[in-house]
Amino acid sequence: MSKLESLNWIETQRERMVALVEHWASINSSTYHPAGVEQVAHAVLPEFSTFAGKAELLNVPSMMEVNERGVLVDHSLGPALSLRVRPTAPRRILLAIHMDTVYPQDSGFQEVHRDEMNMYGPGVADAKGGISVLLVALEALEQFLDSTGNTEIGWEVLLNPDEEIGSPGSIELLRSAAKRNHLGLLFEPALPDGHLAGDRKGSANFHFVCHGKSAHAGRHFEEGINAITAAADLAMRVHSLNDRWTGTTLNVSRIDGGGPMNMVPDVAVVRANVRYSDHSLEAEIDLALREIMGLVDQTHHVHSVRHGEFTTPPKQVEGTIATMFEQVTECGQSLGLRLDHHPTGGVCDGNRLAGWGLPNIDNLGVRGAGIHSHEEFLVLDSLTERAKLTASLLIGWASGALEWPSTLDP
Ligand SMILES: [Zn+2]
Repeated sequence: MSKLESLNWIETQRERMVALVEHWASINSSTYHPAGVEQVAHAVLPEFSTFAGKAELLNVPSMMEVNERGVLVDHSLGPALSLRVRPTAPRRILLAIHMDTVYPQDSGFQEVHRDEMNMYGPGVADAKGGISVLLVALEALEQFLDSTGNTEIGWEVLLNPDEEIGSPGSIELLRSAAKRNHLGLLFEPALPDGHLAGDRKGSANFHFVCHGKSAHAGRHFEEGINAITAAADLAMRVHSLNDRWTGTTLNVSRIDGGGPMNMVPDVAVVRANVRYSDHSLEAEIDLALREIMGLVDQTHHVHSVRHGEFTTPPKQVEGTIATMFEQVTECGQSLGLRLDHHPTGGVCDGNRLAGWGLPNIDNLGVRGAGIHSHEEFLVLDSLTERAKLTASLLIGWASGALEWPSTLDP
C-alpha cells in the first residue's frame, strides 16, 4: 500500500473509530475505579491483537496517598496495556496514552451521546479518542510497511491506568519505555483550536502533615498544640512564595483537619500544587518549603512532615522536539491542516518522558474541548484527521521522506 492508499484507508475507518470510542467512553474508568480501568483495557485489547507482537495487560503497583489524617494509605490501580512490535529494530518509537479519566464512579457525567458533529461524554477526548487515533495510525503504518518489506522501524504501545493523578503506579513502566525508544508520540487531546501543546510547565504536588497534640478544649486547653492554626500559617507562607519566582505558581489546594469542637486538633494536612517553568528552580523551591516547615515547627511547636516530590519536570520545545514539531507541521500542511504549538501550564506524561530523555510530542490526539468538565466533547471529524496526521509522520519516517530526527542511541 502506498502512503496515499494508507491515508485513504484511514478515511474508511471513521465509523469504526466512532463506535470504539463510544464503547470505551461508556465504561467508567476513573483512576480510582481500577475494575473499570481493567474493563476498558479488556475492551481495547482485542483491537491490538492483529499486530505482529502480543498485546498484554501488565499489573501496575498500587500507589500511596496521604489521607485526611495525614496517614499514607494504599490505592490499587488498574492494569496497563503493553505491546511491542519489532523491539530490536534500529529505530524505535513509543506511542502512549492513558486509559483512566478524572470522572469518579459516582459522577453525574457518565452518558455518551453524539450528534452530527461531536461526541459528548467522559473521557471521549481525554483520552479515549486518542487511543483510537494511535491504533488506526499504527494499522496504516503496518499496511505501508508490509508492502515495502521495511523492518527498520519498531514501536511500542503503552496505555497506562493512572496518568490523571500523575502516573504514580506506571512510572517505572514509562521510565523503561523511555529508555528503550528513540522518540515518543502521545495522544492527549489537541488544544481546543486544534493546535499542539509546546512548552509545558513542570508540576509537583506536596502534602504537608502538621502534627500537634490533642487536648480537651475546656479542661486542658494549654496542654494542646493546635495543628490547624499551624497548618493555616504554613498555608499562608506557602502562598506568599507566589511573589518569589516569575512564572512559578503555588496553589494551596486543600486543607484537612479537625474534629469535635471541644478538642484541640492534633493533625492537619495542607496540600499544594507547584507549577514552574525552569527545572533549575526545583532545588530552590524545595529549600523554601523546608524553611517554611522549620519556621512553622518552631513557631507553633508542631512537627511537620512533607510528602511528595518533583516527578514532572518542565518540557521545552528545543532540539529533537523542535525538529519533530517542524515535521508534524509539514505533515499537517500536506493534509490541509495549519498546526502551530502554544505553551501551556498543563502537564502530562510527555513531561516525564522528556525528563528521562525521550523527545516527544504529546497531544496528537483528537480535537475537542471541555476536558475535565461535564462539557467534554470530541469533534468526530478529528478522529480520522488526527490518525492521518500521525500515520503521515510514521510513514514519513519509515519511507525516508522525513528525516529520522533522533540522534539518540539508547
Ligand atoms: Zn489526558
